[in-house]
Amino acid sequence: MTEPKETNMYGLGILKGLGVAFRHFIMTYVDDIRRWGKRYYTPEGIAYRSSKNAQGIFTVQYPEEKIPVPEEFRYIPFLIYEEQDGKIEYRCTSCGICAKVCPPQCIWIVRSTDPNTGRPIPDPAEFYIDIDICMNCGYCAEYCPFDAIKMDHDYELAAYDRKANVYDKVKLGKPVSYYASIRPINYEREETARREAEEMRTARKIRA
Ligand code: SF4
Ligand code: SF4
Repeated sequence: MTEPKETNMYGLGILKGLGVAFRHFIMTYVDDIRRWGKRYYTPEGIAYRSSKNAQGIFTVQYPEEKIPVPEEFRYIPFLIYEEQDGKIEYRCTSCGICAKVCPPQCIWIVRSTDPNTGRPIPDPAEFYIDIDICMNCGYCAEYCPFDAIKMDHDYELAAYDRKANVYDKVKLGKPVSYYASIRPINYEREETARREAEEMRTARKIRA
């Protein structure tokens, strides 16, 4: 006996849903006219469609459009290098801490050795990360004592070849200017700490 009532209830729900969809459909055109030339493919347009004020269709036209990621967004790690007189110098000292703390153990490091003494030198001969195994936890970056490894924002890493996802030192390497551009607040904080530590060391030397 309850069947006709339930059918009626569902029918109303469907109509309400269609009404919402129709309102969004119309509002998209209204908003297109209101924000002529600014609604799509502009940072302003993406910010508007990501906000609670968005009216009409608010989907982002990926990959032509991308939502900016926050500074603390993390995907896979990269190795920072400094550039001096056209020479590249990795900050990594191959201490191995990142490889030890990595939960899925996807970092491999081969240390360089002095050809004369055979002793290890603080520079990785090879550095690999299997980005298919990396779980994006960021532990490696958190624990690195030299700010040599940081988490990247780049998430478009699809590849046809599985082997292409084992990144070597060259593929992992990015200049410090890149790091400063994606994580300006972190970069500034670390540089300030470095400067202060350097000043303290100099002051201690002068006192001694
Ligand atoms: S990236 Fe950092 S923690 Fe990892 S080996 Fe290099 S210096 Fe050590
Ligand atoms: S982000 Fe986490 S899982 Fe990925 S390499 Fe670093 S420690 Fe390992």
